[in-house]
This record gives sequence, structure tokens and C-alpha cells, in this order.
Amino acid sequence: MVVVGVSDDEDDVSLHARDPSRQLVADTGRGPRLVLPPVSIVWRCLLSVDEYVAAGKEVEVPRPDCPGCGDPMRFRSGYGRHVRCGGGTGRRIWIRRGACVACGRSHALLPSFLLERRLDVVDDIGAVIEVVCDGQSVVGGVARSRDVPYTTARDWLRRFSARAPMLAAGFGALAVSVGAEAGIDALASGACGRAVGALRLVVAGLGALSPSLWVLASLATGGKLLATATDPPWTVLGGRRLMPPVP
Ligand SMILES: [Zn+2]
Repeated sequence: MVVVGVSDDEDDVSLHARDPSRQLVADTGRGPRLVLPPVSIVWRCLLSVDEYVAAGKEVEVPRPDCPGCGDPMRFRSGYGRHVRCGGGTGRRIWIRRGACVACGRSHALLPSFLLERRLDVVDDIGAVIEVVCDGQSVVGGVARSRDVPYTTARDWLRRFSARAPMLAAGFGALAVSVGAEAGIDALASGACGRAVGALRLVVAGLGALSPSLWVLASLATGGKLLATATDPPWTVLGGRRLMPPVP
């Protein structure tokens, strides 16, 4: 199993940092300096990971509006980071950045198959979470069967469990906003089961327009499904980013 070590990736600098506070100091070659935690915007990407990799720096990213002031953002180069899909080794992909002239901030524009600061695609992460939350397997079993390091799978479950009450509430609100409130009362009583169940209601409510269950989770949380921050992640709750970009 290859583990990506030192990384220049901006949205996953803390992939292997034991102390999350270390992400606030980056050595840029001009000595350490304080950097703000990265801010990401997740856009609905209809490309497969293979197609995204093949597109390289030519990947077409819809131009987002600034989450701070609403002005259209400008594209501003980007950075390389790794992604792992279906186990095995990671592959390098290009992440575009957007910048807001008015606010002076720039944002990583993450394709919706990713989560912030996570190497594995969200569908792989979510599949492990789902199997465990549904009681079909324990972490060790599903990690082995999916070629995921045990400690990695355990961390996903821990993060999801810690955020599950907030996620259940947010996904439940999203289910109501897409007209799928009928199933809310029948959701599991445990927070993890409620979160997964509410997410399924949203997918059912969106119908043919919906992305996959876990891509939806990334879009709805702005890539922060498993973030360590305690702030609620609902930057795009009910937003149009859940819908496919207009061609
Ligand atoms: Zn702005």
C-alpha cells in the first residue's frame, strides 16, 4: 500500500498530520508563515476520475460565484494533489483555483468526487461508512474487502460518527427542501443511521437529477463531510450546486 507522504496539495495538507494545528503553518521556502485554513468550493463534476485525470490542466470547471460576496470569481491557476479510487496507488490530478477580486481570497475548486483533505474518492469513503452504518459489516471486515488500510477506514467512521448528529439534521433539512419529508419519521434512531437515511431521502427526492449518494454528501457539505472543524458545514445547503451545470 502506497501512502502519499509529504504533499504540496493545498486542500489535503493535513492528510497525515497528527496535529491539525500544524496545517496553520506552511514552509513556503521563504521560512514558515501563517496560512489561513484552505477554503474549498465543491462543484458538480460529471466526469469520471479517469476522464478528469485525462483532461489534465484542461479540465473545464464552471466559473463559481464568490461564497463571500456573490461576485463571479476569476480562475487563478491551481495545484496538483493526489486522488485514490478503488484502492491501489494514488494518481495526481489538477485542482483549479478561483479568486475573488473584491474579497481578495482564493478558493480551491474541488470536483465533487473528492472531499477536502481526503485522498480517497468520496464514493469509496461513503461505501465503507454505509456498510458499517447499515450493520452489514464491521470496520475491519469492510476495510479488508475494499483494500483500505484499517486505520484509514476507522478514521472515516470516527469522523462520520462524531459529525453524525449535525449531518443527520442537515441532510434531514435538505430532504425536506426537496420534498422528501415523508420518510423522515421512519429514519433510524441512531445518528449515523439517520444521517445515511436522510441522505438517501434526498437522492430519492432529486430523482434522475441526483448525483450518487456520497457525491451529494460532498456537494451538500462543501467537501467537509469528514472535516475536523466543529462548524456546521452547510455552505451550499439547498443550493443550486446540487444540480448539474447548465451546458
Ligand atoms: Zn468575494
